Amino acid sequence: MVKDRPYRIVIIGAGIGGLTAASALTQRGIEVEVHERSGKLEEVGAGIQVGPNGVKVFRALGLADQLLRNAYEPINQISIKWDDASLRSSVPFRGVAEAKYGAPYLTAHRADLQRILHEALPDGIVHLGQNCIGATTVDGVAVARFADGKEVEADAVIGADGIRSVIRTQLFGADNPRFTEMMAWRCMIPMEKVPTRVGPGLSVPLPHGEYFGWIGPNGHVICYPIGDGSVLNMFVGHVTDQWVEESWSVKSSQQELLDAHVGWNEALLDMFRNVEHVYKWGIHDRDPIPQWTQGRVTLLGDAAHPTMPTLAQGGNMAIEDGYVLGRTLNRYREDIDLALQAYVAERQPRTARITLQSRQQFANNRKVPPPPFLDRTWIFTHDATKEPETQPA
Ligand SMILES: Cc1cc2nc3c(=O)[nH]c(=O)nc-3n(C[C@H](O)[C@H](O)[C@H](O)COP(=O)(O)OP(=O)(O)OC[C@H]3O[C@@H](n4cnc5c(N)ncnc54)[C@H](O)[C@@H]3O)c2cc1C
Repeated sequence: MVKDRPYRIVIIGAGIGGLTAASALTQRGIEVEVHERSGKLEEVGAGIQVGPNGVKVFRALGLADQLLRNAYEPINQISIKWDDASLRSSVPFRGVAEAKYGAPYLTAHRADLQRILHEALPDGIVHLGQNCIGATTVDGVAVARFADGKEVEADAVIGADGIRSVIRTQLFGADNPRFTEMMAWRCMIPMEKVPTRVGPGLSVPLPHGEYFGWIGPNGHVICYPIGDGSVLNMFVGHVTDQWVEESWSVKSSQQELLDAHVGWNEALLDMFRNVEHVYKWGIHDRDPIPQWTQGRVTLLGDAAHPTMPTLAQGGNMAIEDGYVLGRTLNRYREDIDLALQAYVAERQPRTARITLQSRQQFANNRKVPPPPFLDRTWIFTHDATKEPETQPA
């Protein structure tokens, strides 16, 4: 369709992917509305690692300062033995990514990223309390439908509605997530409650400004400071054959954490005793889907490519998607179909590779001893804000 007026785009979901897309579109003067199911943008989620590839997008959106004020760059990456908490290795972290990949590697709270992106948008773009129940294309017009009976028309509807996307299900049917027999607890702890010593006779002070982790029997623990460094985010992976729901909001408890870590070092157990809210979440795996678009409805972020967290790239991919969508709609201002085609052609292969490498890394992590971490240079050097060298024919 060749058109004679600027596009009007409707995005379903004000997560970090949907809001990045809205920001990239607004930056280019393209009309956009975001419809979000929640009545307010709450503090859902926990710590998230913003790789150099994600930071490059924040820079291009003019949000680098806001990001840096709300994110942390750990000093060293430290590995600690699970039982006696002695030091296994320590490598410098701060400044390394900027030198190698052109942007820093930061750690932040998901809610802060969402807030920064939301605050940067003009008023009236994000509509809260809008539960989308589907989207279709009728006579070349994309139509999003809502639970209250409302319908909204647009040149394109973007399903950025997360891992349980109703739009993906409607376009391509129910998917078939496989439980990986791995679950993760997520929790946070104020830094002042992190012990400064591991225990009597042990040499390592527990790191306070560092990215650090333990690998032990049936699990691993990854910790990093977020925000201004006053809070420590903990990701506690655990092998289990007990099915756990794939959700960000299933509550767990200190006791469950402690029961699963009998015999681990006291410093870690002390940290578990100090956490307040504990959530648990089952890690599931899915194959990448080859096509994201039907008519004038397409997908973005977790809705398009739900990914295991092993490479910590799910959110970064949503951020990259959002920017590329803005860039391709701007580039093909005369032809929405070509714009959507260019968007998917650029994003599907990269995100599928991330999904498959996350799966491979997950399998490697469970080998004893684990092989070296798979190369991530191709992930971090990528700059989604730049036009690709080849365009679709
Ligand atoms: C424990 C954990 C740790 C993670 N760590 C990292 C990390 O370190 N680095 C990283 O890059 N990624 C990480 N991720 C993944 C990352 O959080 C997600 O990939 C990312 O949030 C996806 O963004 P999104 O915008 O696609 O979806 P979401 O952030 O899930 O947003 C979807 C939005 O759509 C809304 N919505 C849903 N359904 C509807 C509907 N029917 N109508 C209207 N609105 C709707 C939701 O309310 C939500 O606001 C982690 C995930 C988890 C669970």
